[in-house]
Amino acid sequence: MNKNYDIVVVGAGHAGIEAACASAKMGLQVALVTMEKNAIGRMSCNPAVGGTAKGHLVREIDALGGVMGIIADQSGIQFRMLNRSKGPAVWSPRSQNDRKLYTEMAIKVVDSYKNITVVEGSIVEILVENKKVSAVITSENELIYCNAVIICSGTFLNGLMHTGLIAVSGGRFGEMPSTGLTECLVRLGFESGRLKTGTPPRLNKNSINWAILEVQPGDENPQPFSFRTDTSEFPYLPQVNCHITYTDASVHSILEKGFNESPMFTGLIRGIGPRYCPSIEDKIVRFKDKERHHLFLEPEGLDSDLIYLNGFSTSLPAEVQLKALHKIKGLEEVEMIRPGYAVEYDFFPPHQVDLTLETKLIAGLYFAGQINGTSGYEEAAAQGLVAGINAAAKILQMEEFVLKRSEAYIGVMIDDLVNKSTEEPYRMFTSRAEHRLLLRQDNADLRLSYYGNKYQLISNELFGQIKAKKKKIEEGRGLLETIKIPSNEINHLLVKIGESETEASEVIAKLVKRPELKLKEILQLKSENDFVLSEIKNNNYLIEQLEIELKYEGYIKRQEEVVKKVEKFETLNIPLNFNYLILNSLSTEGREKLFKVKPRSIGQASRISGVTASDISILLVYLRK
Ligand SMILES: Cc1cc2nc3c(=O)[nH]c(=O)nc-3n(C[C@H](O)[C@H](O)[C@H](O)COP(=O)(O)OP(=O)(O)OC[C@H]3O[C@@H](n4cnc5c(N)ncnc54)[C@H](O)[C@@H]3O)c2cc1C
Repeated sequence: MNKNYDIVVVGAGHAGIEAACASAKMGLQVALVTMEKNAIGRMSCNPAVGGTAKGHLVREIDALGGVMGIIADQSGIQFRMLNRSKGPAVWSPRSQNDRKLYTEMAIKVVDSYKNITVVEGSIVEILVENKKVSAVITSENELIYCNAVIICSGTFLNGLMHTGLIAVSGGRFGEMPSTGLTECLVRLGFESGRLKTGTPPRLNKNSINWAILEVQPGDENPQPFSFRTDTSEFPYLPQVNCHITYTDASVHSILEKGFNESPMFTGLIRGIGPRYCPSIEDKIVRFKDKERHHLFLEPEGLDSDLIYLNGFSTSLPAEVQLKALHKIKGLEEVEMIRPGYAVEYDFFPPHQVDLTLETKLIAGLYFAGQINGTSGYEEAAAQGLVAGINAAAKILQMEEFVLKRSEAYIGVMIDDLVNKSTEEPYRMFTSRAEHRLLLRQDNADLRLSYYGNKYQLISNELFGQIKAKKKKIEEGRGLLETIKIPSNEINHLLVKIGESETEASEVIAKLVKRPELKLKEILQLKSENDFVLSEIKNNNYLIEQLEIELKYEGYIKRQEEVVKKVEKFETLNIPLNFNYLILNSLSTEGREKLFKVKPRSIGQASRISGVTASDISILLVYLRK
């Protein structure tokens, strides 16, 4: 049976569902092909969303009109804002989720689009005519014609799962690998590589001695990810606690004895693992001086007996895992329902895609998610959204969608992937974003909903509400910059917190810059023009936004100035077909890298590793000519 769609999305993981939903919202006919219909949006590893920098990505996805935030809110059983004790740039929302409900919600969201057809099957071949995608073929020999293909194949391409010295083919526990697609892409001229990731054992909750473990509760006032979630009904589900325990020398010693049967240390696993999410055996080897490692016991769901042991990812033999677990406080009698394992899979080094995530080799072919060498649901979802918007925009002849590093973490991630490529799983960090004070999780909607609306993912009504919110912040700021608090009022507060008193009355905007003073407290004092402040006083969101803007004003201004300075290089475009090979004065490495990445601008060229400052000067001279 032959079929015809605008876009075929290969894979219904976190990247795939965002790609499909975005292009469907833009009005196109989408086939979402997945190897298992019931596994749409399955959480392969931990049942959690967000966390440091990843939480920023989820808020950005949501601000652009993506679906991850809504699904996480609907299935969340614990919500926490991480890093609250640090500056607002690094506050990061995280949720613990009910694994089963997450998938159910993801299926519901996908099903709500009439123009998405879910096809169960495995894509083995991409057909190309004149360097442009024309169709895909399934393992059942079904032909699906299309104008664009977005590959979101996760950890499935030639997936091989390892526990001890036993290796079995599979994309993840209980699921077959995807075979044939890598080979097809290599035939088309792409370069592939091999990576690995791992997961910890799952434990029976009824066999854990909870009474002796440290409790980790959620926030008292949980905040949703989605700007569209109705906070009056939130959280939707009963909330649960996580717990904390630790490894110690006796646990490490048992694990070390199993190293001779470790697929990592005996050379069975060739793929490179995630540096920042290492297995427990990796941690023992790399951080020899650390006597213990934190472990988090995280429930897999409200009705589930499974506990996910975060921090204990391992591919050692099952019996070694169990023996070590029994030495851990609270787990002395634990029943291991499923051992941890590692999975090796093919990826395609991401210098092969453009900033739109379209491949440089084949028009209409996009890569998103783990296939680009990233690790994590949020990184995958963000790329899926960008690829989905761009594939649809190209078909609809709309402007392409590229976010700058100064606009979003998503922009930082894609820029890093394309310019630096990656040889190990890439995960997002706040430290990767040089303008992070501008890219806070709390202002993602103010930064990005313009694009969500432009590409029809955010309704005019919602966009109008966000614009109104922006206006309220500006007006509020104007008030705080003019309204003064009399000195006798403010001095009470200053004495209380041990600060020197003031002689004259001071404007609120200046007072709030004192690190120890909170805007909420200042607003409780009697000001010279009290009644005009009533709206701000009753709006916690406004208070938070104004406090951040005013307290960090100096830093924010400095970052904005830097952005302006670098912006001029971002707009100095380099023609796509520019022939670097004729520029003999470029360094050899610089020439090779520029030829490989094909940057769009001088700004992008300057971020490619191996391209020197002198290469950039030579390029500038040549381009000006
Ligand atoms: C064992 C394990 C441990 C992990 N540990 C971590 C971790 O510690 N930290 C972390 O951040 N991330 C971890 N991850 C990675 C995380 O699961 C992924 O980053 C994330 O799920 C990637 O999303 P994705 O959309 O790219 O792919 P996935 O969520 O993997 O989805 C892939 C989808 O593609 C489909 N598919 C594949 N090939 C084909 C084909 N040819 N035809 C049709 N459909 C196809 C599959 O059926 C599936 O629906 C782990 C994953 C696994 C499996």
